Amino acid sequence: MKPVSSRVFVDQYEHRFRIGKEISRGGQGVVYETPEADYAVKIVDPRTSGGGDSDPATAIERNIERIRLLPIPDGLPLASPVTFLREPSKGGFGYAMRFVSGTVSFLEHFYKGVADVEINAAFRHSLPETLSDEERKKRLRFLSRYAEQGNARVRTLALADLACTLARLHSAGVVYRDLSPANVLFRRPKNNLPLRSYLIDPDNLCLTGDVSEKKQPIYTPGYGAPEKLDQSNPPLPRWTEDAWSFAVLAYRVLTSGRPFPENEADGDDWDRPQDAASPSFSYSPADGIPLIRLVQPNVRSLFQKTLGEGAAQPNRRVPLLLWAFGLAKSADLMVECPNCHMAFFPDNETECPWCKGPRPRCVEVMTPRWTLFLSERSKGPKEVLFDLPSRLFKPFSPVSWNATEFRVRCSFDDQTLIPTRKTDLPSETALRWMTERPPHEV
Ligand SMILES: [Zn+2]
Repeated sequence: MKPVSSRVFVDQYEHRFRIGKEISRGGQGVVYETPEADYAVKIVDPRTSGGGDSDPATAIERNIERIRLLPIPDGLPLASPVTFLREPSKGGFGYAMRFVSGTVSFLEHFYKGVADVEINAAFRHSLPETLSDEERKKRLRFLSRYAEQGNARVRTLALADLACTLARLHSAGVVYRDLSPANVLFRRPKNNLPLRSYLIDPDNLCLTGDVSEKKQPIYTPGYGAPEKLDQSNPPLPRWTEDAWSFAVLAYRVLTSGRPFPENEADGDDWDRPQDAASPSFSYSPADGIPLIRLVQPNVRSLFQKTLGEGAAQPNRRVPLLLWAFGLAKSADLMVECPNCHMAFFPDNETECPWCKGPRPRCVEVMTPRWTLFLSERSKGPKEVLFDLPSRLFKPFSPVSWNATEFRVRCSFDDQTLIPTRKTDLPSETALRWMTERPPHEV
């Protein structure tokens, strides 16, 4: 059962909200679940919500009204504020927002340490013999945790979904401003529900170039764009600040390491202007997996443009729609290893590079606009159902890129891929079967 505290908040319609488990915590307050499954509550820290009003409660109420008037696209996976809340007994205040239960924050999910991880025996044969016992244990724990939290394909798709949401906000002229792992919630695909990323904590949304927002640069330490760290001359809100934060977040979620080696000793407190002046971006973090093992070259170049050249020149950073497109393309060229559950590029490897298990049987589905691999998940049923997404057949759209276009029945034994409904795949669809097994598996 979820822990529920005795604190009760009431909105202007006399609806009562009780406080449940903490979801995320930032400089401006704490977000909690509520027993009402579709809502979360943010309790605001009164010291950070002055905004020119003497009464902080009035300030937050005005802020909610301001956010509700922004041109946020319909149906966006973003928790908009719904109603203002007061706590009659203790004088606290905050707001309620729409929330999707069954989600977990990127921070809680992808940033967990290895302390309590169960070692996955699949990785034992893949490490060099020369490693010391201690180093071997450390690497086994790291790989086991990584696979358990979601392989590179799952992570890349979650980031592509987040990039689509930010791209849609930016195209409406709205900047999110405080992207951090605590502010993104994630749902793994299950029970026919697709993978999804959600943005919460929308207090800082504002219009591009809003001069009234210039006085107060907002960011989470470690994720703020370099130009925002100059307190004496903060820039106007622009999409480029979200692009920077997104690239740092994507790097950390994918590699489990940090993009700027000189900041490793500082933990997450990378917010000193002198560091921002000359960050040196690295493809291979000392404490994580090199990008080259996780993404295609096109995505590595997005990182280079955004965190390398884009450090000093914000206009060189890559717009979020291109991030979404590039990440989705890269993810679709990966398959999951049924043995260790890590992901790899089957075109380059005949065995899993993480556990040395045999490459699963797979099929490459190609159309003139996209390529996607489907693979055997285990030596189980003869036929497997797969969903072919819209991006294979239609121009990439940040709204419908992951919608199912065809559900297909796939047999790797018979090399057939047939839609479950009585329609054919478009004639331009080509298939390449990779169903050979290494000799010891025959
Ligand atoms: Zn493997």
